[in-house]
Amino acid sequence: MVDSPGTALEWADVVVVGARCAGSATATALAAAGRDVVVLDAATLPSDTLSTHLLWPAGLAELGRLGALAAVEALGAPRLTEAFAHGGGYGVGAAFPAVDGIDYSMCVRRTGFDDALARTAVAAGAQVRQRRRVTAVLWDGHRCAGVRYVDAAGRIGEIRAKLVVGADGRRSTVARAVGADEPFLTVPSGRDCYFAYWRDAPDAARHVAAQWRAGADLGTAFPCDDGLVLSLVQPPVETGGGRGPGEAERRYTAALERIPPLTERLRGCERVGRVRSATGIASYFRRSTGPGWALPGDSGHFKDPVTAQGIRDALHYGRTLGEAVADVLDDPVALDAVLTEWERRRIVECREIFHWTNRLARGEAMRPLEIELYRAAVDDPDLARLTTGIFARTRRPAELYTPARALRLAAGALRHQRDDLPAVLADLARELRDAARDRHTTRTTLRGKSSRGAAPKPRSSLTTAGPGEHHA
Ligand SMILES: Cc1cc2nc3c(=O)[nH]c(=O)nc-3n(C[C@H](O)[C@H](O)[C@H](O)COP(=O)(O)OP(=O)(O)OC[C@H]3O[C@@H](n4cnc5c(N)ncnc54)[C@H](O)[C@@H]3O)c2cc1C
Repeated sequence: MVDSPGTALEWADVVVVGARCAGSATATALAAAGRDVVVLDAATLPSDTLSTHLLWPAGLAELGRLGALAAVEALGAPRLTEAFAHGGGYGVGAAFPAVDGIDYSMCVRRTGFDDALARTAVAAGAQVRQRRRVTAVLWDGHRCAGVRYVDAAGRIGEIRAKLVVGADGRRSTVARAVGADEPFLTVPSGRDCYFAYWRDAPDAARHVAAQWRAGADLGTAFPCDDGLVLSLVQPPVETGGGRGPGEAERRYTAALERIPPLTERLRGCERVGRVRSATGIASYFRRSTGPGWALPGDSGHFKDPVTAQGIRDALHYGRTLGEAVADVLDDPVALDAVLTEWERRRIVECREIFHWTNRLARGEAMRPLEIELYRAAVDDPDLARLTTGIFARTRRPAELYTPARALRLAAGALRHQRDDLPAVLADLARELRDAARDRHTTRTTLRGKSSRGAAPKPRSSLTTAGPGEHHA
């Protein structure tokens, strides 16, 4: 074992790369169990990150389980007690289902939100260090055994650990370093994201989380902290055209103009700051565990923002990872078995919402069956609650499209949209094809896909020369 000159060397039970949602949740759970955890983040915290931030009740419940809910609520975002969705000429309002007694959503800007999470991890006993960029993982034979990092002054350090947790987002360095960056399932989004903050109007309904569909466009208004409202538009992916200065502004404004009710919602509001954009998005599953490493959060699995699931899942799978491994860190065989089972559970629990999300991310106008769903939900509060429950993760998409309900929706679409029968019939056929394809993906690509990929080749001594080693 040869250390680089000037390398500071430390030991910890677990080193976590990334201090936001997944990283802080993992670290909090491990530190609460008495484990020695060091969290490294390249960023200066508190700081913003490219993300909108609607939290369904399940996300808030996760905060409660971590002990971070009070700190997040103290940031002052209003409780959103009503979900409103409008499309195809129908507007549907619904209450949020309760998770752990929390029956509201919130939209909290990431700077304060992530800081509250990191502070929770510190309060639990984790060491959180900022401005440390991890550049490589260390190997001990075939096991991941730590990380190498560089600090803001250019000093190199190494931390040896029994487990390396890559909670370092979509462009994960750890995923690259362990050879897991190529997803085993990827679905490109049909939508781009553009968002901006507005100072909300004095008479605005600040308890409503609203979404509108207009043509192929989708737009939202979520009241958030500091008297602001976050407005995200997700127009279909625009191929070609520039990406230069002013493009995001142009595309955001153009999308707003195509969604008149959203423009109306923003009347009397004043724009604050620039438009931010996220394009070229894809949803994916990566192999997320191996000997001595794990990837909770976006590093291992990502869903298009259209259903706003990412923060909840990063918190949930970060926490459950920490809880699952805390007692087995000293036994590599038991640790790897627990990691494999943790990854398997995530795939099983996330695959339906993954398919559901990808359909909404297609960047198309509402289809006849969707329009019928909205129409039926106007007069059927149970149906509206069921649909909201899918986003809130209290209900499953399979509960919506039971054979009986699918038949009822099909019959309703044929009755209420008889001016366009060919479109309704084509949509029915497509729905059947899509459902069959999703089932096939679940049975094949996603079945048992947990840590079965090629493990890194064993080596005899501690080294950074791992397969897919990445120096950032
Ligand atoms: C446009 C957009 C809108 C979204 N809207 C929503 C929404 O409304 N609701 C929702 O729930 N989710 C939303 N998401 C998803 C959500 O942002 C993510 O799921 C969530 O941030 C994942 O958290 P994470 O901890 O895995 O990663 P991140 O939040 O990405 O944090 C990763 C951290 O790792 C650090 N890091 C990276 N590389 C290194 C390195 N080499 N060394 C050290 N540190 C490193 C980074 O500095 C960063 O702090 C959205 C995403 C996008 C892109």
